Amino acid sequence: MAFKPRIESKELKILRILNTRMELTADEKKHYFNLKKGYEGEVQFDLLTEQLQNKCYILNDLLLKAGNTSFQNDTVILFQETIHLFEVKNYEYDLIFKTNRLESFSGKEYQNPLDQLNRNTLLLRQLLQNMGYNIPIKGYVIFINPEFTLYQSPPNEPIIHPTQLKKFMKKLNSQPSKLSNKHKLLAEKLVSLHQVESTYTVLPTYSFERMRKGLTCEICNSFEVSISVSGGKMSCNDCGSEEEVESAILRCVEEIKLLFPDKKITTNCVFEWCGGAVSKKKINRLLTKKFKRMGQGKYSYYVSE
Ligand SMILES: [Zn+2]
Repeated sequence: MAFKPRIESKELKILRILNTRMELTADEKKHYFNLKKGYEGEVQFDLLTEQLQNKCYILNDLLLKAGNTSFQNDTVILFQETIHLFEVKNYEYDLIFKTNRLESFSGKEYQNPLDQLNRNTLLLRQLLQNMGYNIPIKGYVIFINPEFTLYQSPPNEPIIHPTQLKKFMKKLNSQPSKLSNKHKLLAEKLVSLHQVESTYTVLPTYSFERMRKGLTCEICNSFEVSISVSGGKMSCNDCGSEEEVESAILRCVEEIKLLFPDKKITTNCVFEWCGGAVSKKKINRLLTKKFKRMGQGKYSYYVSE
């Protein structure tokens, strides 16, 4: 179990809803899919680090600041003698390694992840030194996607290719490591320094009125869902997954809260967001059960308890 688990960023959550409920521009879509793919790759890597049996502290998705410079670390693992820093890349299309960049076969340029890794290593070292720690840092770029090939990859750089991952994790697992209270304190300190919200997020403009309304599938985001005769279950006509209607409504409430933090949660607005698929009576009952009611009658709204 990770000492600091990875959670989906607010930006990714919001973009997923926007992509489902409105038409994003080509650039916005591309940005969303890149974020989504990056996150999925990191989650894939988490599945591997979770299997480590030796003593270590795993800190996922750590946004730190050294001086005035922020730096995002996909995975940081504290062992007894070293700190391992990982930059995870989920490219699926093959790329060619060039001195200061990666390039696709059509000539499109990508940032060299080694540069990013070196920058992060430098900043983390600086931060640790300022905190009075002098622990060696080992950094690696992980190419997680099994279908990816990096051509002309220099063998002496700390790059782990998909075909090397299994062996690499085995090696990581075999290094002896004992942890003391000192390590725990450092892990806690780093988590406490994590910057919660990145300030440079630019979201597409959106409004409640212009968003497509309706219940959506939890798994594939499709609007093609049917509610059972009894009204308790919802099933997706596209992927076949099933969900309690109540849980689908509560997801709608979470969507409204995330997208419109200033909006009051009322029976009417949830009814509208659900596209009229469930009765106001049912929504009202659910909101009363799960939230705290404020105000009276027509003007009542609901807040988290
Ligand atoms: Zn579905």
